[in-house]
Amino acid sequence: MKALVYEGPRDVAVVDVPDARIERPTDVIVKVTSTNICGSDLHMYEGRTTMETGRTLGHENLGEVVEVGGGVDRVKAGDIVCLPFNVGCGFCANCERGFTGFCLSADSDTPGGAYGFAAMGTYAGGQAEYLRVPWADFNCLVLPEDAAEKENDYVMLADIFPTGYHATELAAVSPGESVVVYGGGPVGLMAAYSAYLRGASQVLV
Ligand SMILES: [Zn+2]
Ligand SMILES: [Zn+2]
Repeated sequence: MKALVYEGPRDVAVVDVPDARIERPTDVIVKVTSTNICGSDLHMYEGRTTMETGRTLGHENLGEVVEVGGGVDRVKAGDIVCLPFNVGCGFCANCERGFTGFCLSADSDTPGGAYGFAAMGTYAGGQAEYLRVPWADFNCLVLPEDAAEKENDYVMLADIFPTGYHATELAAVSPGESVVVYGGGPVGLMAAYSAYLRGASQVLV
């Protein structure tokens, strides 16, 4: 399959790599139909991380489930799914507390896994034709009927929208408040939008 591979600082290329395949019964394979380039990808692209050469980038992924491992119950072939940035098992002590970004089961030297990301395991990214999704029952957000029609909106659930929303959660934004967001990139804009969703009366970016 084709994939976008990190070849060194400021050097990426679309090359042929081995096809994504089921490695554990709890995996599914997703045919990627949308994937974003994240600001976090720039840390790796610009050579500011320990990212290994030859790895596929991409942690903001959406697509159709095309293959399902024998241990997967909830997710079916044909489902359109959005995958969160982090790879979590759903059952370790950290995942159970909601800290899925620090999953203890992740294939990583330190807690936490992510697709195509430096120092967060060996998971391949989704800037590729196909993506292996571990612990699929936990990680797949199965999208409703309008998934194809609103794909460009739903793909934002992989990272950008919840990242912006999380800022308003940490700031405990409440109805009627005035909110200032410093930085008007994609995450800042999502934080501003989230502040309105939480009832802010005035938002300044
Ligand atoms: Zn991202
Ligand atoms: Zn876990």
